[in-house]
Amino acid sequence: MSAVPSGARDAVLKFYFGPMDCGKSTLALQMNYNHARQGRRGLVLTKHDRSGGPKVTSRIGLGRDAIEVEDSLDLVRLVTSYGRVDYLICDEACFYSIEQIEQLADLVDEHGVDVYAFGLASDFRSVMFPAAQRLFELADEVCRLQVEVLCWCGRPGQLNARVVGGVLVRTGEQVVIGDTGEAPVRYQVLCRRHHRSGELGEGTPAAI
Ligand SMILES: [Zn+2]
Repeated sequence: MSAVPSGARDAVLKFYFGPMDCGKSTLALQMNYNHARQGRRGLVLTKHDRSGGPKVTSRIGLGRDAIEVEDSLDLVRLVTSYGRVDYLICDEACFYSIEQIEQLADLVDEHGVDVYAFGLASDFRSVMFPAAQRLFELADEVCRLQVEVLCWCGRPGQLNARVVGGVLVRTGEQVVIGDTGEAPVRYQVLCRRHHRSGELGEGTPAAI
């Protein structure tokens, strides 16, 4: 990969964050489409997509094959192996390792690759994911997405709750995808008030 030409604009690292269902993957796919249409060459990366495969899929039915970001994947090595890469779309970036976020910054600064990262900011406890925190610290621009995802009460949804067996839980592994085997796990977007109180809007009791 050639050095960044002098006089070119600096590449950028942008982080778009929001709760589940706010359209992050939809925007990621749209962003890829827009850049590709301008003749730019990009890669689409994801981790733990809802489809369970190496794909970016959105809740409204769009989808595209993607590269799965395994824990051992070196993103600088990946990108430089492709020859020319102008931009990266990094969906579910909250699940990447901190080291991989540093690699994204290296790609921006040393290889002139624009990086558009999408992900959750905080986990089911309302605690920030380490990778999201690093993105907040390093990104040139951070944008909160709020595509009218609402709590059951009608307030803006901000936080992701983990619901196990119908009850909001506040302890457990930071990343749990799908069922644990013992009880069905699901996630629900709540406003801050109801995330803190644990009310799920179905007449269920408060959190354990
Ligand atoms: Zn609410």
